[in-house]
Amino acid sequence: RRDWRRAVEVVRELEAACGTSVNRLRQVVDAMAVEMHAGLASEGGSKLKMLLTFVDKLPNGSEKGIFYALDIGGTNFRVIRVHLGGRRSGILRHNVERNSIPQHLMTSTSEELFDFIAMSLKQFVDREEEKTSEPSLVSRRELGVTFPFPVKQRCVSSGILMKWTKGFSVADMIGKDVSESLQQSMIKKDLGSMRVAALVNDTVGTLAVGHYNDEDTVAAVIIGTGTNACYLERADAIIKSQGLLMASGGMVVNMEWGDFWSSHLPRTRYDIDLDAESPSPNDQVFEKMISGMYLGDIVRRVVLRISQESGIFGSASSRLSTPFILGTPLMATMHQDDTPDLREVAAILNDVLGIADVSLKARKLIVNICDIITHRAARLVAAGIVGILKKIGRDGSSGVAGGRAKGGGGASSSGGGKSRTVVAIEGSLYTNYTLFREYLNDAVAEILGKEFSPFVILKVTEDGSGIGAALLAASHSPNS
Ligand code: ADP
Repeated sequence: RRDWRRAVEVVRELEAACGTSVNRLRQVVDAMAVEMHAGLASEGGSKLKMLLTFVDKLPNGSEKGIFYALDIGGTNFRVIRVHLGGRRSGILRHNVERNSIPQHLMTSTSEELFDFIAMSLKQFVDREEEKTSEPSLVSRRELGVTFPFPVKQRCVSSGILMKWTKGFSVADMIGKDVSESLQQSMIKKDLGSMRVAALVNDTVGTLAVGHYNDEDTVAAVIIGTGTNACYLERADAIIKSQGLLMASGGMVVNMEWGDFWSSHLPRTRYDIDLDAESPSPNDQVFEKMISGMYLGDIVRRVVLRISQESGIFGSASSRLSTPFILGTPLMATMHQDDTPDLREVAAILNDVLGIADVSLKARKLIVNICDIITHRAARLVAAGIVGILKKIGRDGSSGVAGGRAKGGGGASSSGGGKSRTVVAIEGSLYTNYTLFREYLNDAVAEILGKEFSPFVILKVTEDGSGIGAALLAASHSPNS
């Protein structure tokens, strides 16, 4: 039938437009390394902000004492207490309490938001110290905070909020010092003895955990609601700091890579529409092709077009026109449906998108669409990771354009030599979406090649970035 032919044509076009041949990925790798360079050379030199974190001591296992952390995520935050044993005995104990941020506070004032967080922190500290009856040993409590929004820092313990993402819009907070606001609320709630020792991006927390467990860890990537990465850079490669960092050998740089843009990215009409209809057009273009917030909606857009241009999904469903109605976990369920008659695909089409009685052939087409979108996303992340490795001379391509000579190596790099390199990874897309993870792993190996890929290890950090913030509070605390 003509309808069917048109539907297949739309999917073929999609597949072609989402092409990520290894050659295309290598162009993305090079573009990433070049943009990293530009972002380090001058403020505003690239879409990549390449934010300085002033983290110059990654935890290595020698840290000792009791430290607290506040792990601020999307809609949740966690308060954490860790007891570190020192001399590589690891984390003796850690206690976590999960809280959710009430919706109205995400768009209120900074004072209300931080008062709420400080109050939860105070309750947690009181309960914990009552339990362990060892509070007075610490006269001053050190706190690490993860804050997953772009922050301009001049030291490790504070920074000014540049912009909100992920549904937050506390307008009076932009341009203000995050730690200072939190500290004021902490004083109000009788937590004046606690000091914000480290304010870090969540990727930096992940890197800290990775490094604590394995000192060959040089970069961290998060692929969850959004996506971002950070890595350890040589101080003298951070040209825009203008000698400010003379004392230290290296520093973690928060790339804010969700904002990466390159003409080599395989963008489709669906990506362009999604971006144009978003609250922040032209922003976070890379993230919009990759992360959990968006993948399901790209699929929805393709299905909507097929439904408009062919009759294979029956009469038009209004639900199919509702943005973000198809979440990425549902997309993953359809993609990985292993029932012989694709029962789960049928159920989701029916229950979520209001499309009933879809033929098996058409269900297979849906699985195909999910596969194309996830395959592209995972492979782009892989290219981004290799881009970082290239920038620090750990991709095996020693000395070529943007490589060793200009780019420089990480902490213990041996130039283009074969040293073990670990990248810490976190986020539901990697940990919970099996096909995404497999595509990503395969693509990293494919880009690096057989000879070099055994030296690059992608490692899931189980503990979470909040623990990392506590570890950084420890490694940057005066008593450690
Ligand atoms: P964070 O909000 O801190 O990034 P996560 O790493 O858990 O938290 O990522 C949440 C994102 O991952 C959401 O966008 C969600 O849609 C997506 N997600 C969660 N579980 C799955 C899954 N099993 N398969 C695919 N996507 C998932």
